[in-house]
Amino acid sequence: MTSWKDTLQVRDLEQGQRLEVTCKTCGHVHYLTRDSINDARPSDQRYLDEIERLTVCGARGCRGKVRLAFVRNGDTSGFVGGLA
Ligand SMILES: [Zn+2]
Repeated sequence: MTSWKDTLQVRDLEQGQRLEVTCKTCGHVHYLTRDSINDARPSDQRYLDEIERLTVCGARGCRGKVRLAFVRNGDTSGFVGGLA
């Protein structure tokens, strides 16, 4: 199945774009940015589905599998059409 995670690489992320990381086991949420991903390991060439597989839950003692999601910066910015 193809999704944005298969087509976007870490280097395609904008500075400040946050990814929400939700643990499938315990529900713990933390956030990643391009910088924080590269702090853990050099990852600019990796696709985001690979990052999803490599990332584990940050909760103490859990280390469960996670799901990545984009965090939108502002809800209404995508709906400006027709207001000009
Ligand atoms: Zn967890």
